[in-house]
Amino acid sequence: MNPINVKGTHDILPSDGPYFAYVREIFSQVAQVYGYGYIEPPVLEYTDVFVRSTGESSDIVRKEMYTFDDKGGRSVTMRPEFTAGVIRAMVGSKLYATADLPIKAFYFGPAFRYERPQLGRYRQFYQAGIEAVGADSPYLDAEAVVFAVTALGLMGFHDLKVKVNTLGGQQSRAAYREALKAYFADKLPEMCEDCHTRFELNPLRILDCKVPHDHELGLNAPKMKDYLTEEDEKRFYDILSYLATLGVDYEVDDGLVRGLDYYGGLVFEVHGSTKDGQDIGALLGGGHYDGLLSAFGGPEDIDHGVGFAMGVERLIAILKDQGLSLPENDLDIYLMPMGEKAYENCFFLAQDLRMGGFKVDLPFKSGKLGAYFKKAEKRGAKVALIAGDSEIEHDTIQVKNLQTQEQREVPMAELPATLDELFSVQDDHECGCGCHHDHEEGHCCHDEAEGEHHCCCHHHEE
Ligand code: AMP
Repeated sequence: MNPINVKGTHDILPSDGPYFAYVREIFSQVAQVYGYGYIEPPVLEYTDVFVRSTGESSDIVRKEMYTFDDKGGRSVTMRPEFTAGVIRAMVGSKLYATADLPIKAFYFGPAFRYERPQLGRYRQFYQAGIEAVGADSPYLDAEAVVFAVTALGLMGFHDLKVKVNTLGGQQSRAAYREALKAYFADKLPEMCEDCHTRFELNPLRILDCKVPHDHELGLNAPKMKDYLTEEDEKRFYDILSYLATLGVDYEVDDGLVRGLDYYGGLVFEVHGSTKDGQDIGALLGGGHYDGLLSAFGGPEDIDHGVGFAMGVERLIAILKDQGLSLPENDLDIYLMPMGEKAYENCFFLAQDLRMGGFKVDLPFKSGKLGAYFKKAEKRGAKVALIAGDSEIEHDTIQVKNLQTQEQREVPMAELPATLDELFSVQDDHECGCGCHHDHEEGHCCHDEAEGEHHCCCHHHEE
């Protein structure tokens, strides 16, 4: 059988692992700093969860869901996004009644969409995101944006463009919908089939149409800002003023509507750009929503939320493109047993060293010393421990520093002290930029005099 993966999916191989860990680690740390706790709803939900919240007019629900009947005849769907499942979980567990409000939850995991596979777009992809639910505050909306910008900044993105818009409250949106319908009504015959459905279900979605002709028509359509109630307008400008004070560089994009039906009020995207300032598309998108808790039978009086989701593969591809290079689990120590007896000793020594916190491995097929050194190099080991008959006889071991090539024979009883000495110069040092790499002494460069911080991961350099 051919080892082919399902169309549109991709394997995360060990060499990709450090990048996923990097994004997850920074995202989790920022989440904790902003007071968010982890949540993870199941991949499988009843189909209704998405139909009733993500929305019948969204492309996701109409065309992209992996939906099937389980063996009990229940229609289930593999989550195409997290918000619906997260809210369903909050209502199902009555978290809104027991937790402090707003409930702040962050997530990280795979999502599934039957989309046309293309560069950076997969049918199974990872999303990292947040939801803050149960409070209605322009400050909370602004906080979600600054959280997103902070997380991306710490991952190493610079020149971020924050695009914001408001979809207004229900009253504003109803007036705007009517205005859009009046504008598009006579243009509809020349528009795509999807837009016909959007016209009926949610005319705002027409503005998101990717068909060039329809997109062009959308550019001259009435603008949301002209249909906002005074209250909705004030809220939007309040959020903008908080963002400005927080130092977030934003631009108002009145064509931004976002692809999911539940958004109302603030919507935003954060775009990355190339070194010469070209937009490389949305790294994340989100916004404010009302009415999701009650869609699952939750309370109406606190039925508000704000959140965003970022596409992890996309972030990783861009970070790699910008020069981020992370090693795949480099070893501290590689053991080199020469002979049967030595092999047994090394096997048990490996366990002792691992319990001491060292990253250790040994060959699982006996070979020559030259081959062992090649393996040690491939695994990024810093120290080799070599044991043969003579060392066993004298209860010693050869310790070779693979960085300096210095080698000495030490009594087994002195091995812990020798290793402590060898590894003490390699300081696990927390980088001020929050990226938490292991920085070896001499490689980290904090330029105190300049008041600047350069991280040895090369990732934060200009
Ligand atoms: P959405 O849930 O549609 O708002 O998407 C949020 C983010 O997830 C987007 O900004 C993308 O970065 C990412 N994303 C959405 N769909 C895909 C996909 N099919 N493959 C990879 N990333 C995706």
